[in-house]
Parts: sequence; structure tokens; C-alpha cells
Amino acid sequence: MLTLSIYEKEASVPIIGLYAPEDLGTATQRPAAPVRPEIDPPQRMGTLPTPSLEWTPEVERNTAHLYARVKHVISPVEWPLMAPLVKAINELKRERDAVILAHNYQTPEIFHCVADIVGDSLQLAIEASRVKAGTIVQCGVHFMAETSKILNPEKTVLIPDSRAGCSLASSITGADVRLLRQRFPGVPVVAYVNTSADVKAEVDICCTSSNAVEVVESLGAPTVIFLPDQYLARYVASKTSVKIIAWKGACEVHERFTGDELRAYREADPSVQIIAHPECPPDVLAEADFTGSTAHMIKWVRDRHPKRLVMITECSMADNLRAELPDVEMVQPCNLCPHMKRITLPKILESLLSLREEVTVDPAIAARARRSVERMINLRN
Ligand code: SF4
Repeated sequence: MLTLSIYEKEASVPIIGLYAPEDLGTATQRPAAPVRPEIDPPQRMGTLPTPSLEWTPEVERNTAHLYARVKHVISPVEWPLMAPLVKAINELKRERDAVILAHNYQTPEIFHCVADIVGDSLQLAIEASRVKAGTIVQCGVHFMAETSKILNPEKTVLIPDSRAGCSLASSITGADVRLLRQRFPGVPVVAYVNTSADVKAEVDICCTSSNAVEVVESLGAPTVIFLPDQYLARYVASKTSVKIIAWKGACEVHERFTGDELRAYREADPSVQIIAHPECPPDVLAEADFTGSTAHMIKWVRDRHPKRLVMITECSMADNLRAELPDVEMVQPCNLCPHMKRITLPKILESLLSLREEVTVDPAIAARARRSVERMINLRN
């Protein structure tokens, strides 16, 4: 009974409207799924030869310091398959004047062994604006690579697989935002960074799950349109007096968790700590000991060092933390993001060899989208 009343309280968090494409008459105008392009002939000409990918004593010696970082999560049987790719990628980065940006949801061999900069969407957006190298390889999903391009129009931004999409980013278009503005004239619009450049260009400011409440309150408006994640919108509404109009998008990974699942973990071990991402539904957040962005979750674990922990977010983040903190026992409900998992070591190598797939954003859209992203970044500085 008690649990039910908490759920009801959280579920009734006061968002004042929830909109979907069919409410605006745009339901049939969804963008097509991205297609992986063929390499065109000029790109092929610039392709470097594939280096040796043999497991040799030299490769073993050369990558031993990297294996030390991941030995708790990657077995000695798997490593000889990964190490030659890791070595080749790290050498090619220098040759191509490239840096690798990797999101917290990338797998440990990418996150700990080839990435130069790691973090959540906010950290990656900030670091992308400071990168000195001429080429950025984005190990994450397409909207993240677009954000890097928006902030670095003069640089080459590559994504190892452009089909790495996101259920949130594909839930809304720039046309939807324009119709929302017509319906609610004068109401400012905040977009989660998990949106396309086209959407970012139409809104007043972007936010991430790290700074969503701060961004909403920075506008000084009594009502704000917050899109596209309905669950993050509810979470924000529970933390502020600003009235929130939400969009009916959801993260296909986080919306799969349930309150029942969390209660089962706690019944099995009442001492277990549970932390959850705010893209989860309200009944899940009601059961968690802490709710925060991936960066806030990582900080919480480093600071508290719990004995047993359930992380209610994408599964690879727990692996990445387990590599760093092997004494924290992770109970891992393994919900993987299929889009993040499109990025692999062989595809990163291919990306650096052939300088593909290059991410482009129409300059006029990029200029307007940059305003929204930089407005968010500047709030922090
Ligand atoms: S985890 Fe969810 S929000 Fe993140 S990229 Fe995957 S679908 Fe999008």
C-alpha cells in the first residue's frame, strides 16, 4: 500500500500537458531511419591500409597498461582479440590528428582503452567545444556527433556508424517544435540535448539530465515547454515550481525498468543501494535511493563506495565503473542501448582509416542550434 501511494504521488507530478505528433497533426511526417552510406570514391582514395591485427608479444607489451584498467571486466581470453585493435586505433589517432570522445554508455574497451575524453552529454558537449585536434571521432550516438559538429563547424567530425540513433531524438522534429510554439505563443522551449540539430535550432536553450532543473529555472518563466523526454520532464516538474508542458518521447532503454523490478532487488537484499537515471518512469524513481544523470551517478558511487549497488541505467556504465571500483559489487540489470552498441572497435578503426562517416549539419541550422547549446554551456561558466 505504501509503495502504491508513493507511485501515485510521483506519477501525478504536475506537468500541465503532454503532447505527441498526432496532437499537432504531424504524425505521418516522421524522419526516415538513418542509412549507412557507401564510401564514395574520393574518400576511398584517402583510406589508409589496414594495419596488422595480430596478437603478438609486442602488442601484449604495448597494451599491458591498458589491460590493467579493464582486467576486472574483460577476460584474458577476450583481450587478445581486442588489444591489436586498441593499439592500431591509438596509433592512428596520432596519425590522423584525431581525438575520441566517448559517452559513459560505451563498452569498457572503448571507454577505458581508446577514448581521450569520456563523460555524459554535457561533459562531452563542453569538451567538444575545447578540442584542439582537427578530427573528432564521436563514440556515442548521432545527436552527440551532431552536437560536436555544431560546436566545431571547422573540424571533421566522424561517427563510426551513423545508424546509431536514439528513440528520444527520433521522437520529435523541428516542425513539431514550430507547431508547439504556435499552440503556446510566448512559452519558452527547452530541448534535452538528445535531439537533432533541426530541433535544437528551433528552441531557446538546450539542457542535459545534469542541468535540466537549473536550465528551466534560468528562463525566469512561469511555464516552460520541455522536450522530448516525458519522464525527465516529470522529474524536472517535481523539482521546480515552474509549470511544465511535456512531449511524449521516451528513452527505449530507461522506460523498460519497472518499480516492481526495483522492489524485487530490495526484497532480495534490503541493504542494497539503488540509483536511477531520471529518464526512468516515476514509479522507478520512487524506489531509488538516488536519482541523477550518468555523471551524478558516477560521482555518487565514487563518493559513497557502496558495498552492493544496482545501477538503473544503460548496462555498460556499470561495467565501466566496475573496472575502476572492483570492490563495489554491481547487481546489473542489463538493459543495453542498441544504438550505443553499434559503435565497436572494428568500426572505430575503419572510421579512422577511411575518415568516415563524416557528420555534416546545414550551416544555417548549425548556427541556430549552436546558440541553444552555447546558451546552456555558458550558464555553467
Ligand atoms: S540510452 Fe536511451 S537516450 Fe541514450 S542513446 Fe540510447 S535510446 Fe537514446
